[in-house]
Amino acid sequence: MKDLIDKLYNTGNLTDAELEALLLDDSENEYLRKRAEEKRISVYGREVYIRGLIEISNYCKNNCLYCGIRAGNEKAERYRLSTDDILSCCDMGYEAGFRTFVLQGGEDIKQDDDFIVTTVKAIKSKYPDCAVTLSVGEKSFESYKKYRDAGADRYLLRHETIEKCHYEKLHPQNMTLENRVRCLKDLKALGFQVGCGIMVGSPYQELKYIIKDLRFIKEFDPQMVGIGPFIPHKDTPFKEEKAGSVDLTLKLLSIIRLLLPKVLLPATTALGTMSTDGRSRGILSGANVIMPNLSPKAAREKYMLYNNKLNTGIESVEGLNALKKSMEEIGYKVAVSRGDYIK
Ligand code: SAM
Repeated sequence: MKDLIDKLYNTGNLTDAELEALLLDDSENEYLRKRAEEKRISVYGREVYIRGLIEISNYCKNNCLYCGIRAGNEKAERYRLSTDDILSCCDMGYEAGFRTFVLQGGEDIKQDDDFIVTTVKAIKSKYPDCAVTLSVGEKSFESYKKYRDAGADRYLLRHETIEKCHYEKLHPQNMTLENRVRCLKDLKALGFQVGCGIMVGSPYQELKYIIKDLRFIKEFDPQMVGIGPFIPHKDTPFKEEKAGSVDLTLKLLSIIRLLLPKVLLPATTALGTMSTDGRSRGILSGANVIMPNLSPKAAREKYMLYNNKLNTGIESVEGLNALKKSMEEIGYKVAVSRGDYIK
């Protein structure tokens, strides 16, 4: 197994059969983790990039079966932030040392292109030294172009799964894998730093699908990859499904770091929700980004994608000092910088 891990370290690739062997055998997981950490340090040193996450709306026109803010969840208490609300979050974040703001939300038809453009322009004009990342779902090429022209730098859109029959089990009929991938390609063509990714342990996921996802990630060569465990939400069709594994998520973070050494790789909120030291372990497994929450407290409580989503303490800006301390404890340092992809 160490030979395979060394091959992955040295060449940045493995065959599908080798990936399968690596995923099936956990005997050298610690060696894999160490090699991924070594690779991460060789590219990004011991800096941890922070992104201020602003959850701009939990209205969503979509009905993804796994998601707590799906349109069909009548129990969700809906909210949307205004441009001024979002700017206040940025003010607080800038003061605290954030130089990237991530605007994430459901696909809210009232937060239309004009709203996104106005908001991005307002942030970029007030904080020209900051990066703006958008994560507001599937749009047309024309809409993405407007966001890019307004100054947005990055876009996160997990592909969720690259296996068509799996995609169809996670989404209603009106959502297609084809359109998801079209969006990712458009975003890349427009010059965004793009992030794709999956939920680990989503219902119906199989090992062979994860291998296909890794192959897709390697070939698409995104600047960011977001992976976190699936966690059920009590008011969704998947409420009885079991959560994804923290250990498998950590292992996949290490594999992704070795497949794409320069990738910006968050230790996600879902990982932190499943395990109190989940995000520190994520950093030790090759991740180099953490996304603390800058949303107003009331919004944080309502942006419930899954049960018990972290929304206090270290998850919030109030907990930034605790986060810095926990990174120092494992030998890393929170950076005050945009934390761009290294070309
Ligand atoms: N609407 C945008 C989109 O589709 O990309 C952004 C918001 S969406 C809620 C952000 C991500 O949350 C999804 O890509 C999905 O992977 C993740 N997510 C949703 N429900 C989840 C759950 N139950 N467990 C873990 N992650 C979940």
